[in-house]
Amino acid sequence: MLDLTGKNALVTGIANNRSIAWGIAQQLHKAGANLGVTYLPDEKGRFEKKVRDLVEEPLKPSLFLPCDVQDDAQIQSTFESVREKWGKLDILIHCLAFADKDGLSGDFSGAPRSTFSKSLDISAYSLVAMSAAAKPLMTEGGSIVTLTYLGGVRVIPNYNVMGVAKAALEMNVRYLASELGPLNIRVNGISAGPIRTLASSAVGGILDMIHHVEKIAPMQRTVTQLEVGNTAAFLCSDLASGITGQILYVDSGYSIMGM
Ligand code: NAD
Repeated sequence: MLDLTGKNALVTGIANNRSIAWGIAQQLHKAGANLGVTYLPDEKGRFEKKVRDLVEEPLKPSLFLPCDVQDDAQIQSTFESVREKWGKLDILIHCLAFADKDGLSGDFSGAPRSTFSKSLDISAYSLVAMSAAAKPLMTEGGSIVTLTYLGGVRVIPNYNVMGVAKAALEMNVRYLASELGPLNIRVNGISAGPIRTLASSAVGGILDMIHHVEKIAPMQRTVTQLEVGNTAAFLCSDLASGITGQILYVDSGYSIMGM
């Protein structure tokens, strides 16, 4: 049985009720996990309020923390709070990414250096930084799950800079899995099919991508946040105790098709 009772899970990347991280948090909660939620702080505190209003009542997180992954001090203080409150961490959900608009449409070669490095920093390096901070807290083993997309292994129109960031992220999964395996910390990625969210709306032609999947994918539909959440809950559970370093596709089968 899928049971996460007694597990402490830190979930990053909830922005609103369309976020994939929201689907994951709900399924971890349903499986009995004790949740901590981080949000991206902004000057006016709008994100904080929005995320708090969404998660507070249904999920009752025992930690609610600001964490901009571009800031090492915020990463450090997030995991310090985890150590103080929980003592140990079992699950880390890395469900965040960012690229400026000029990295998500037009010619790939036209992406400015600053757009390229910012996207790699937020979307790929952050997994390394957070895993390093999580490692000493995962004293009883653990599971780290990140979110990736087919555009990291194949060319998808307009995905551009984010495709390179996802390629780096998927390689991070393998290097981290190799390093952390002896500590019984598993690291995996979920490659989700396209879903309409705040982040995906920034990718040029996302609706066309979704319609294309509905035509081509074996299951003739896209996937939902909750379906991705179910897979994340599985990967975080003892049912997946032998799985690490893998990218699991949750995409209605789209990625197997040649034509
Ligand atoms: P989303 O906009 O709901 O989530 C993106 C999150 O990234 C937001 O919560 C945002 O606050 C966070 N974020 C951005 N910059 C940050 C920073 N500097 N520090 C901390 N957090 C930061 O969109 P989503 O589609 O749910 O994206 C979640 C993950 O799923 C991303 O990695 C995305 O690439 C991946 N993914 C999405 C799709 C899709 O079609 N939506 C498909 C496959 C993979």
